[in-house]
Amino acid sequence: MTVTGSSTTTAARSPLATAHAQLSSAIEILGYDEGLHAMLATPRREITVAIPLRRDDGSTELFTGYRVQHNISRGPGKGGLRFAPGVDPDEVRALAMWMTWKCAIVDLPYGGAKGGVTIDPRHYSAAELERVTRRYTSEIMPMIGPERDIMAPDIGTDEQTMAWVMDTYSVNKGYTIPAVTTGKPVAMGGSLGRATATSRGVVHAARAALADAGVDLRDVRVAVQGFGKVGSHATRFFAEAGARVVAVSDQYGGVQAPDGLDVPALLAHVAATGTVVGFGGGDPIDNTALLALDVDVLVPAAVEGVLDEETAATVKARWVVEGANGPTTEAGDQVLADRGIVVVPDILANAGGVVVSYFEWVQANQAYWWTEPEIEERLEQRMLASYANVAHVSRAEGLSLRDAALTIGVKRVAEAHQIRGLYP
Ligand code: GLU
Repeated sequence: MTVTGSSTTTAARSPLATAHAQLSSAIEILGYDEGLHAMLATPRREITVAIPLRRDDGSTELFTGYRVQHNISRGPGKGGLRFAPGVDPDEVRALAMWMTWKCAIVDLPYGGAKGGVTIDPRHYSAAELERVTRRYTSEIMPMIGPERDIMAPDIGTDEQTMAWVMDTYSVNKGYTIPAVTTGKPVAMGGSLGRATATSRGVVHAARAALADAGVDLRDVRVAVQGFGKVGSHATRFFAEAGARVVAVSDQYGGVQAPDGLDVPALLAHVAATGTVVGFGGGDPIDNTALLALDVDVLVPAAVEGVLDEETAATVKARWVVEGANGPTTEAGDQVLADRGIVVVPDILANAGGVVVSYFEWVQANQAYWWTEPEIEERLEQRMLASYANVAHVSRAEGLSLRDAALTIGVKRVAEAHQIRGLYP
């Protein structure tokens, strides 16, 4: 989900600058040397591919696609595929690095990877997007595979995209290989619970962080920025858990109701119109004003860089639970910390998606499918155990939750790297 009008172009707000600053902070805490720092800061492999598209009207257009494997010391690369107009190599590198730490924090046997195509999918037909997806997959084929690098949905892609990737890969190999992607439709090898997993994980993380302060989810007001795959389900789960969701927004605008939005009615409105804008049960609010609302919990679940030095200074929430990847810049993080606002970082808070991706890959490898309650229970256990570990390190070492999560993730990756040793 893209938030129109949010500029993430300046160097300090760039996702890679944020990712590098976070890594430097972890390296300093862990006392690692420059050689190890350089290795952890640098992607292991990258590919850039040209994707010519034959449009439905017969004309042709050229797109550029990327796949970055940031680290594969703990296992195959793992991470989403993003279709968005602003995709560039540095953004994909940052997102791949965050996947490395995220997978390590929730202790999955994966490295980190990410893919992207610089395209605005809203302007292309389903048939055109299918051709782009198949050509992209075909071009990056040598780099991916169930033991090499496993793709999943991200902004601008969905379970249908994953079905096309899996089919293109499988047809070329000559047999069906479901484990090359996750987030597939349940009808052809997807996992129950995957579509809602990131959002469920966000709510588990929020509940755990609130409990640390003796606060119950039923007593909080929540604002959610972004109403895509993460924000829409998170809104529903927050409401089902008894929280009062007072504002939501998407790329077109937002809606607020201080006494709480009627979430089922809101979801019906979005299903009918494709946007939260125009929902009768509230007043309009824009994406920046939403960040500054007088709420208890703020969930940025849209794009990178929305909480910078300026916007972070306006936040009134006591907790920021990051549903998006990289929503807070380094400077924004400092402002939130100085103001005593607790940030549950992306690499922990939104890890539920990749946790159930892992379950989907395990099920595909075993060709044995779990029930929905089994998946939900294992997801909750993994999220709560990971949160407890991060919160423990945070308390014991006097670190923010972000630095605690980063040091856990970076240390696990560095240990795997060092135990394996250098070749040659
Ligand atoms: N794109 C999601 C993320 O950023 C999911 C990645 C995955 O399941 O591999 O975490």
